[in-house]
Amino acid sequence: MDKTQILVVEDDIQVQNLITVTLKAEGYRYLTAQTGQSAVIAAATHNPDVILLDLGLPDMDGVEVIRRIRSWSNVPIIVISARSEDTDKIDALDSGADDYLTKPFSVAELLARLRVTMRRINGVGFDTASSLFRNGALTIDYAAGCVTLGREEVRLTPIEYKLLCLLSRNVGKVLTHKYITQSIWGNSLDSTTASLRVFMATLRKKLMPSPDSPAFIQTHVGVGYRMIRVEDKTEYMT
Ligand code: CA
Repeated sequence: MDKTQILVVEDDIQVQNLITVTLKAEGYRYLTAQTGQSAVIAAATHNPDVILLDLGLPDMDGVEVIRRIRSWSNVPIIVISARSEDTDKIDALDSGADDYLTKPFSVAELLARLRVTMRRINGVGFDTASSLFRNGALTIDYAAGCVTLGREEVRLTPIEYKLLCLLSRNVGKVLTHKYITQSIWGNSLDSTTASLRVFMATLRKKLMPSPDSPAFIQTHVGVGYRMIRVEDKTEYMT
């Protein structure tokens, strides 16, 4: 198999060097872009496997870069942002980014996110022909509408089941409050975001019968939720 190629979009040369030196040491191929315009062109010309995208670019907002690339490509995009404001992350995720890292980030963190993304795009643990979803002890039978944890059936309300299906079909990806409430209720009013928290809390409880059970659903405070693969769990703790 060819080596994975990563497009690194970053106008800060020091950060770009840190990333490319790391990628090279890990055996990834990479190409770089310093502007939004050149990033869009590089994405179209070289068809990279993953894009690492800085949000603050000199010519164009990173969110606009995501929108343009998403008009023809589903390539995983991991946003790297110096801005700690949640709204930037949320806009990026709503525009189709898969994940985010906040500067300053560690090299270990970057590599961990890349490994998770690579496993996801290589379809590890996915069987598209099957109506079964498996994640550790959790099994969802989409056809039967049935959820089990080990041998026990998990009794979910229709809303909880819809939420779980949405998260599982996007496993590994952070889904924003807005995305989730629009998918489930068709709107994203504050009241539905408040209800979402309540539904999510009970769903998480049902999926964690004991305190030492693995947490399948990760909360991103102020942003949204993500289902993580149990085998990827350690990757999110670095
Ligand atoms: Ca920048």
